[in-house]
Amino acid sequence: MEKEALKELIAFMQSKGFIWGPSPEIYGGLAGFYTFAPLGKLLKNNVEEAIRKTFQKYEMYEVECPTVMPARVWEASGHLTGFTDPMIECEKCKSIFRVDTLIEEFLPEQTISGLKNKELLKIIKAHKIKCPTCSGKLREEIKQHSLMMRTTVGVDIEAYNRPETATTTYLPFTRYVDFFRDKLPFGIFQIGKAFRNEISPRQHVLRMREFTQAEAQLFIFEDQKNEFEPYNDVKDRELPIWSSSMQKEKKQPAFIKIEDAILKGWLTNRAFAWTLYIAYDLFLNIGIPKEKMRFRQHQDDEKAFYVEDAWDLEIQLNTFGWTECCGVHDRSNYDLKQHSKFSGKELVARDYKNNKQIPHILEIAFGTDRPTFALLDLFYEKRVKGEGKTMFKVPYKLAPIKVAVFPLVNKEKLPEIAQQIHRELLKDFTAVYDKSGAIGRRYLRNDEAGTPFCITVDFQTLEDKTVTIRNRDDEKQIRIKVEELKSILTKLFEGSKLSDFGKYIN
Ligand SMILES: [Zn+2]
Repeated sequence: MEKEALKELIAFMQSKGFIWGPSPEIYGGLAGFYTFAPLGKLLKNNVEEAIRKTFQKYEMYEVECPTVMPARVWEASGHLTGFTDPMIECEKCKSIFRVDTLIEEFLPEQTISGLKNKELLKIIKAHKIKCPTCSGKLREEIKQHSLMMRTTVGVDIEAYNRPETATTTYLPFTRYVDFFRDKLPFGIFQIGKAFRNEISPRQHVLRMREFTQAEAQLFIFEDQKNEFEPYNDVKDRELPIWSSSMQKEKKQPAFIKIEDAILKGWLTNRAFAWTLYIAYDLFLNIGIPKEKMRFRQHQDDEKAFYVEDAWDLEIQLNTFGWTECCGVHDRSNYDLKQHSKFSGKELVARDYKNNKQIPHILEIAFGTDRPTFALLDLFYEKRVKGEGKTMFKVPYKLAPIKVAVFPLVNKEKLPEIAQQIHRELLKDFTAVYDKSGAIGRRYLRNDEAGTPFCITVDFQTLEDKTVTIRNRDDEKQIRIKVEELKSILTKLFEGSKLSDFGKYIN
């Protein structure tokens, strides 16, 4: 991990009003809880809007389920017994650590996925790993720590905050079947809070105890998985693939046509390949550059027994390196089978032969905090040793504030005209009015916030009702009519260039 880079990024996010915390700061902060500040919340909203639009493009429907569910649900899903992390205690200072992250920090080359507690303990002893806090000796015992956040409903009903949205999406299954009039496949997604009682989270918003998930589930009959029409629309597209066999052969990830990945047997069915493509399209729409992404297929020992195939979409961050930001899973019919068994209700749909079948579920599972952090990580540019300037070069469509309006000086009616323009623009865009300091300072402030366009009202405005508009990334300006501002800005956010609307000045 680039610790300096992370420290700087956090300082930038705190001071510019993107992300604050750990919250509540005035009480010392509780690890794993953060506040999205005004600019950060606008950014996260834009990320979530891009997610909604993408899922809707593929005809998926959004639902909102409760975050609290009774214990029985989590018995059925396996979370009550199985959703745990191994932890170890320091004999001296009593600090508690998550064993896998502890080993990863001390021994970055060590592979630990799939290892049993006994084997983890052996590694700790063999490499004499000590307490990171006090260098004391660690206890020779690993315990399982439940990640479930318990609560009580009413007087005595045992319940839990959901650790994922997916389970709550499965439960109204028979309602979906009615809603879609028995037509499978259908896709349902949910964007909402989830809770995990992490042992000692230290990765900023990448590992929070309360976070926002976005998960889509495609319900599909098993025999539809390879007879899936929408596949034809994407089969010639390329994905940055790193299959388990490529990993074993020490090959680098490569852009490979989806159809070729199917023919090679890396992707086992066409519907799943389509789901993988949606995840990729989604992150492109969020603004993540394609060269910063790869799909890593899980090895067999990383997968739960019922998962038929699993790929992680990883993003190459400046602060944390390659980081898992989305998981795409073929979950077979395990979930509906489990909930049918525990609820005693039949969870089936009728196929075209009118036979009852328990559908399979293909899942795209991710959160909205990590992609928001990824945008800050990838597009934050720092002023180094007096050279250049600090900027947030986020893609224009995702920018928290779309436009800033300045009066050149604070006299002769310029502020009144600028305020009038600002009020008009607020009807259609996020916009700020900024009158303090030299004009250069105001440009810098808005470059740091990622604002794509700055509009200045000057003395010529008084004569001919024109203003200057400046582009963030190349700092070029043109002069345009006030009455055309809205339509030009709209076109600029649709991808037009500033030069399409006039000559550069200065
Ligand atoms: Zn200690």
